[in-house]
Amino acid sequence: MSNTATNKKELFGQPIGLYILFLTEMWERFSYYGMRALLVLYMTASTLGDDARGLGLGWTRKEALALYGWYTMLVYVASIPGGMIADKLLGQKKSVLLGAITLCIGHGVLIMTDIWAFYTGLGLVIVGVGLLKPNISSMVGGLYKEGDIRRDKGFSIFYIGINLGSLLATMVVGLVVAKWGWHAGFGLAGIVMVLGLINYIYGQKYLTHVGNFTPSTGDKNEISYGQLYSKLFKSPKQLIFVGVLIAFSVLGWYKLEWGFGLLFVFLTAITALLMMIYKELETQVFKDRFLVLLLSFIMVIIFWGAFEQAGGLMNLYTESNTDRNLFGWQVPTVMFQSLNAGFIILFATVIAGFWAKRKLKGKEASSLFKMALGIIIMGFGFLFMVFAAMEFEKSGSSSMIWLVLAYFFHTIGELCISPVALSFITKLAPVKYASLMMGVYFAATGLGNKVAGIIGESASDFGELTIFSGILIFTVVIGGLFILILKPLKRLTHGAEEKERDLKNEEAEGFELADN
Ligand code: GLN
Repeated sequence: MSNTATNKKELFGQPIGLYILFLTEMWERFSYYGMRALLVLYMTASTLGDDARGLGLGWTRKEALALYGWYTMLVYVASIPGGMIADKLLGQKKSVLLGAITLCIGHGVLIMTDIWAFYTGLGLVIVGVGLLKPNISSMVGGLYKEGDIRRDKGFSIFYIGINLGSLLATMVVGLVVAKWGWHAGFGLAGIVMVLGLINYIYGQKYLTHVGNFTPSTGDKNEISYGQLYSKLFKSPKQLIFVGVLIAFSVLGWYKLEWGFGLLFVFLTAITALLMMIYKELETQVFKDRFLVLLLSFIMVIIFWGAFEQAGGLMNLYTESNTDRNLFGWQVPTVMFQSLNAGFIILFATVIAGFWAKRKLKGKEASSLFKMALGIIIMGFGFLFMVFAAMEFEKSGSSSMIWLVLAYFFHTIGELCISPVALSFITKLAPVKYASLMMGVYFAATGLGNKVAGIIGESASDFGELTIFSGILIFTVVIGGLFILILKPLKRLTHGAEEKERDLKNEEAEGFELADN
């Protein structure tokens, strides 16, 4: 065992390393969400100097939303190369460091007003998040040994850090921009990222045992990504499948736009890699676990595809269709965006505690069940948006309470799926591809973001009532279907979650523990 005295230290029953990662991710999310909150506003602000916040880019709403959609997808899709770099080159810990430095530079560049700086800054943020986000999440998993019951709760605490960052950002950045202008807002994102970096560097002594790179052992079974791709050409079934996907990519390129074509080509390359990894995994247990992980990512795409209406369609709905008058005060639209983060902070440990208690009683719920339930609960939240849309159609405005209820259920759903999925990946992913799988997970959430944008846009054709009802029915049905096939899915995990127990007490009682 490589644990040193320092990294064995605990706080509130959790390793101190968790709080270091918590704070790093909190500042990183502050900078991400703070900058994201400004993005569309800055792009659409006028170039004529008539805005107190400074010169904007003067883009149309459509142009701005298009770039926003691609950007918010790419930051998460970049987690795939970010995970690969960690697995094969740097290890998770150094990848996070490099990501944090890249983010400081990226946000720093955005302080400049030139258009080249704008694109360069966004590019650097995409690279930085890609390196940091999946790998810091994997490092959280690395703090716990296999079977440690504290892991799920640890992820819930980590998730609070994420949302604390986002809550602070949405509260503070707007004020800074109003007083000192756009680029001060971007600068603030940069400054907090420097805080995140300092915290991470300072906390290294608590992280000596996690996220280290394990160099190639020279084992002949070890296989590089290049070798996997070359093996593809000797695997007829996989090759045919890839051929079909390439045909779709070409179609996407011509029928939609080149961006989609490029995205499909990238996804085809990743699908090919995943198929070959599956084929090469040594045992059926590894193969089954890998498969169930990929299947669970379908739930992830569906979840975020519905959930992410929050920043788009629901945001616009709040602005134009909702009566925001509270005892004579007009509640600003952006404040509704803080509800999600606020509810997370309030309820994350409650939900995690609820599951943990059930587990200790032997009535444990599997991660897959929680994820499916998360989709249903989140989907149920759309019922309130349906009520809101009905009220609007009848009386020309709808009550704020519907939004609060919808965001509440969305958040409870998110807590059932998002931290649970992070933890689940660290339990099931093959060690050699742990970071890659985390990257694929985040890419799935990014695709969900893109799906959300596409659905949201179609509201102008179909109307909000149809869209909200459609999402409600679709998500509840899909979640229900996953619950129906839970048994066979669970079988594929081969008991990865069944032996979780209180290792801390056992350790104290002298049990022999295997390192993770
Ligand atoms: N809100 C969460 C975060 O910022 C989830 C994001 C995601 O998984 N796409 O980490």
